[in-house]
Amino acid sequence: MFIMIYSMKFINKPYWESYRNLVYKKQDNIEYPSNIDVVIIGGGYTGLNAAIPLLKANLNVLVLEANHIGSGASGLNTGFITCEPINTQDSKLLTIPLKSKNYLIDLIKTHKIHCDLECNGSIKLATKIRHMYMLEKNMLKYNSLFGKYFTLLSSKELEKESSMSNVYGGLLNQLSCSLNPIKYIEGLVNTIKTLNGNIFEYSKVTNIEKQYSSYKVTINNQINIICKEVIVATDGEKITNSTNLVCKKSLTISSYVIGTTPISKDLQYLISIRKRNFFTTSFFTNYFKLTAEGNLLFGGEASFFQEDINTNLIDKLYSKLHYFFPFLKDIKIEYAWKGNINLTLNRIPFIGQDSQNMKYSFGYSGRGVSIASYYGHNLSQFILGKEYDKNIFSSKIPNLNPYHKSSFFLKSGYYYYKIKDFLF
Ligand SMILES: Cc1cc2nc3c(=O)[nH]c(=O)nc-3n(C[C@H](O)[C@H](O)[C@H](O)COP(=O)(O)OP(=O)(O)OC[C@H]3O[C@@H](n4cnc5c(N)ncnc54)[C@H](O)[C@@H]3O)c2cc1C
Repeated sequence: MFIMIYSMKFINKPYWESYRNLVYKKQDNIEYPSNIDVVIIGGGYTGLNAAIPLLKANLNVLVLEANHIGSGASGLNTGFITCEPINTQDSKLLTIPLKSKNYLIDLIKTHKIHCDLECNGSIKLATKIRHMYMLEKNMLKYNSLFGKYFTLLSSKELEKESSMSNVYGGLLNQLSCSLNPIKYIEGLVNTIKTLNGNIFEYSKVTNIEKQYSSYKVTINNQINIICKEVIVATDGEKITNSTNLVCKKSLTISSYVIGTTPISKDLQYLISIRKRNFFTTSFFTNYFKLTAEGNLLFGGEASFFQEDINTNLIDKLYSKLHYFFPFLKDIKIEYAWKGNINLTLNRIPFIGQDSQNMKYSFGYSGRGVSIASYYGHNLSQFILGKEYDKNIFSSKIPNLNPYHKSSFFLKSGYYYYKIKDFLF
C-alpha cells in the first residue's frame, strides 16, 4: 500500500509548511522585558488577535508561545471560514459566525494581510438521502437569520458543482470563505511586529500565581515575570490547576488531514467547478477543498483518543477520498497531519474570566479561524474597557463532569456517534 498511495515527496507535515516564511529557532537565555501590562499565553489566532488592540492602546504586551507561533490548531487547520448560524436557542449567539467573519475580513483588509482569502462559498453535503430534509429545514432557518445566501441543491444541481459520488445533494452557503492559515498567522505576526509587540517562542508558561492586583507568571519553570492582566489563549490546554476552567468546560478531539499532489486542471474541475469548500452532514464529518496549487486537502477521522497520524488513519482517509472521488484512483498523497480541536459540550465557544479575573476564550469547536480571531479581539476590548460584544460574554457553557473525560465515556461516545452516523 505504501508505494501505491504515497508520493516520493511525502512528508508527515501540514501542506501549509511550504508557505512558512518566518524562521523559528530555539533561543537560549531569552531576556524577557519587565513592566508588562498584559501577558498573553498562546500564539494562535486568539492570542495574536488579542495582542493587536492592546498594542494599539500602547500597553506593554508579551505573547508567550510554548512552541513556535502557529504550532497549535491555527497552523494546522484547513482554513475554512464556514459562516452558518450556531445551533442554539439563544438568539444573541446565533450570529457569532457572521460577526466573526466580518471582523476577520475587516482585519485582513485593514492590516493588508496577504493570506489568499477567497469567498467562493461552501457546500454541506448530504451523505444520506434523509439528510436532505434536515438541510432544507436549515436553509429556511439560515436564510431567515443571515439573508438569502443559502440554497438547497438537489443531486442533479450538485452535478453542476462537482462530479463527486455517494452524495444526495447539499446546502450551498455563499457566505463562506477560506484562507491560507499560515499566511494569516504570519500576517498577524508582522502586524504585531509593526506595533512593536513582543512575541517569545519556546516560552511555556508553567505556573501562574495571583498576587493581590497582579500575577506572577513562570516561564519554562525558571523565569518569573509580573504582569497586571493574563489572557489564557491556549485553545483549552490546561496550564496549572489555577487555570482548570478550560479543562472543566471543554474536551479535545483530534482530526486528521491528507493532502494530495497537485491535480490536473481537468480533474480539479471535476472536483469543484467553483473551488468551493465541502463538508459532510455526518457527526464525524469529512471536509475537503482544493488549494491554490490544485492539491486536494481531505480531512476527517475525528477521534477522542488523540492518536498520532499513522498509516491506518491515512489509509482510512485515502479510501474515503476515493469513495467521493473514484476518478482520482491514481492520486498520491504528499502530506498528512494531525491537529487538535477543542470542543465545548454545546459547541458554543466560551469567552470570559475566572474567579481570579484571568481572561479566557476557547472551545471554537472546529470554527476557530474566524471565531478565535473575533474572540481574541473582544477579550482585549474588554480589558481596555472599550466597546466589546457583550452578547458573547454572556454565554453560559455547561461544565463537563469529570466522567466526560473518562476513557469509558469517551469510548462510549465515540461508538455511539459512529453507529448513529452509520444508521442515520
Ligand atoms: C485539523 C484541523 C482542521 C480545522 N479546520 C478548521 C477550519 O477549516 N475552519 C475553522 O474555522 N477552524 C478549523 N479548525 C479549528 C481552528 O484551527 C481552531 O479553533 C483555532 O486555530 C484555535 O485558535 P487558538 O489560538 O485558540 O488556538 P491554537 O492555535 O491551538 O493556539 C494555542 C497556542 O497555545 C500554545 N500553548 C498551549 N499551552 C501553552 C503554555 N502553557 N504556554 C505557552 N503557550 C501555550 C500552543 O502551543 C498553541 O500554539 C481546525 C482545527 C484542526 C486541528
